[in-house]
Parts: sequence; structure tokens; C-alpha cells
Amino acid sequence: MPIAPRLEALTFDLDDTLWDNRQVMVDTETGHYAWLDDGLAQWLAERGTPAARRFAERFPLADYVARRQALADAHPLRRGDFTWLRREALLALLGDYGLDAASAAQWADAAMERFMTLRHRVSPYPEVDELLDRLGRRYRLASITNGNVDVRRLPLASHFPVAIAAGELLAPKPHPRPFLTALARLAVPPSRTLHVGDSWREDVEPARRLGMQAVWIAADAPACPLPPGVHRLAHVRELPALLTRLGD
Ligand SMILES: [Mg+2]
Repeated sequence: MPIAPRLEALTFDLDDTLWDNRQVMVDTETGHYAWLDDGLAQWLAERGTPAARRFAERFPLADYVARRQALADAHPLRRGDFTWLRREALLALLGDYGLDAASAAQWADAAMERFMTLRHRVSPYPEVDELLDRLGRRYRLASITNGNVDVRRLPLASHFPVAIAAGELLAPKPHPRPFLTALARLAVPPSRTLHVGDSWREDVEPARRLGMQAVWIAADAPACPLPPGVHRLAHVRELPALLTRLGD
């Protein structure tokens, strides 16, 4: 006998749930900043106005991070909109470096374009494509991410008829809005939906508060008792077996 109402939909976090995001973020963060630094140095030299100090020498990566944090503190409503925070921080730094507003905007946009290209070089775990294909035949699927990956740019986009970018809703998880938006677009009640994610605070807790079931992907966290409706897996590949155990 099923313990809970029969599930109709599954919602998925993306970063560190469907792929390992750590190295992608490191490569993306350092990569677009180095690209900007190189591009600027070359551009200034070609114009005959080389700077005494290179951009990244004057503003090391840590300064860029600090600017983003300061902007997030000053604009709490935008704190989840990482793309906006990065672009604004770059604009400010480029202005401080001496670029006029138009050139600063051009270089900030170009760097963000580079950022987004690198950001989408994610490699879903090898099992993910087939897993989503199989689950998509049985359940309605949605993705809910706080990150700035645009699912539509990834091959696995075809599995997600509903894709929610929480940062763009100005309400990053754990805010209920991205979950409620997904449920509305899926046209399913929370009790018939299971959310899968790696963050206790941003995935499991908000899903449970709305009455969804939740799967916590946590390979390394110490064992602990779980509240009702929460299931723990070491890897998303174990999801089909769990769904079978739940009687679905
Ligand atoms: Mg995650």
C-alpha cells in the first residue's frame, strides 16, 4: 500500500543534484575574469592607451567577490539574481579602472557572455539523461534552480516542460515562490509532488513546508533522523528504486 498520495510530479534542483557543480563554478569564475583581463589589456594596447597596471592586478578576484557581496547586501531583493550582481559588480570595477560608461557596459556584457558560455559547460551524471527520460514517461517533471544555468541551453532541456529560474523571480529558494510557480505550471497539488535536491535549507525544508515530499541528495552528511516525508539518497541514480519502495 502506498504510504503517501500517489505522486504525479517530480521537481528537481539542478546544481549538485543532476551534476557536480563545484569545478564548473571554479572554472567559470576564474575563466571569465581572466578572459576580461586579457581582453582589456589587448584592447587598451591596441588603442595606444595601455594601463600602468592590468585590471586583475588592480582588482584581484577577491575584490570582484566583495563587490558582489556588497551589492547583494545593498539590494536584498536582487540577492538571488547572480547574473545581475555580477554584471553590476563588473560595471563598477571597470568604471573604477577608468573606462567610460559605454566601454564599461560593453566589456561587462562581453565578460558575462563569456561567463554564461563557461557556466553551461556542465556534465550531468552519466545516468541522468536516461533517468529523466524514464521518469518523464510516468511523472510530470520540472526543474527549480537558484543558479543561473538556463536549462534551455542544455541537452536535457527536453525532459523539463517546466523550468523555473528562481533568481529571476527575485525569490531564490528557500522562498516558496519558485516551488509554488512550478506547482501551478505543472497543475499538481503539493501532496502529489516530490522535490529532489541537495540542499537541506533550500530544497528539503521549503518543499516540506509546502506539503511536498522531498528527497535529500546527501552523500557525505552524517546520518541523522529524518522528518516524515523526507527521504535521503546518496545519488540521484537511486531515485527510481526509492519511488518503487514508496509504492509508486
Ligand atoms: Mg543544488
